[in-house]
Amino acid sequence: MTMNADLHCHSTVSDGQFAPADVARRAHAGGVTLWALTDHDELGGQKEARAAAEALGMGYLAGVEISVTWASRTVHIVGLHVDPDCRALIDGLARTRNGRAARAEAIGEQLASLGVPGAYEGALKYVSNPDMISRTHFARFMVDAGYARSAQDVFSRYLGDGKPGYVSHRWAKLADAVGWIQAAGGEAVIAHPGRYAYSPLEFDALFGEFIDLGGKAIEVVTGSHTPDQYREYADVARRFGFEASRGSDFHAADEGRVDIGTLPQLPPDLKPVWERWL
Ligand code: AMP
Ligand code: MN
Ligand code: MN
Ligand code: MN
Repeated sequence: MTMNADLHCHSTVSDGQFAPADVARRAHAGGVTLWALTDHDELGGQKEARAAAEALGMGYLAGVEISVTWASRTVHIVGLHVDPDCRALIDGLARTRNGRAARAEAIGEQLASLGVPGAYEGALKYVSNPDMISRTHFARFMVDAGYARSAQDVFSRYLGDGKPGYVSHRWAKLADAVGWIQAAGGEAVIAHPGRYAYSPLEFDALFGEFIDLGGKAIEVVTGSHTPDQYREYADVARRFGFEASRGSDFHAADEGRVDIGTLPQLPPDLKPVWERWL
């Protein structure tokens, strides 16, 4: 039987809709056999996620998705098989979360100037972890308040990078994020590379620097890629010798991405990053 690995999902501990144990149940119901909860910049859901996965007889890898700024743009680095009690990782993530509240207030002011008053207070109502207010919470508020048709619509008109409601922010350094993951005994994975607006030269530099730091894997089949991008990043994995990861990037039942465990398998010639832990 082939493994159904889904190694990228979110819970209420960051910007997901369901509590960690409920995401575990959804993964199990979707046929997932190896799962990782990878909340943004937070490990607070790991105990609940592992306990729920183990109770369901589902394999589990502790995970996290770290926000990084590289060449003035945001890159997400997933850490898999991390020790959630590692001090260096915990402290690094706390520093990365720092500044989210002030940034969110600035987003609120920016949106007010665009005719969307009260967005900071509105978004806060969707937040269960006040340290982790994100653009997703603003998007949920704006959809429910009738300013946009969908979260996608909010990002394309207001909150996407470079749009009028966007507030730039400096996240962790790539070397630091990879270092914290390694200190915690995990492997770093470049999340959804197809989402970054780098030039081909910049991409080559990003992959080169990641390899120099000891990075070995990228996401190939992810809910944040189109099927064309599965093929494109499978080729990148072959060209750079990366291992490959697979994950839905599931956040919520109705936000238009794929459900947990339903993605196609990795191309058979690629080495799955999770094989090292089986
Ligand atoms: P933040 O960490 O506050 O910058 O928020 C980033 C989050 O916004 C991502 O993790 C996604 O959940 C969501 N997001 C970013 N871009 C988009 C997009 N184009 N469509 C839908 N959700 C997005
Ligand atoms: Mn998210
Ligand atoms: Mn991401
Ligand atoms: Mn994600």
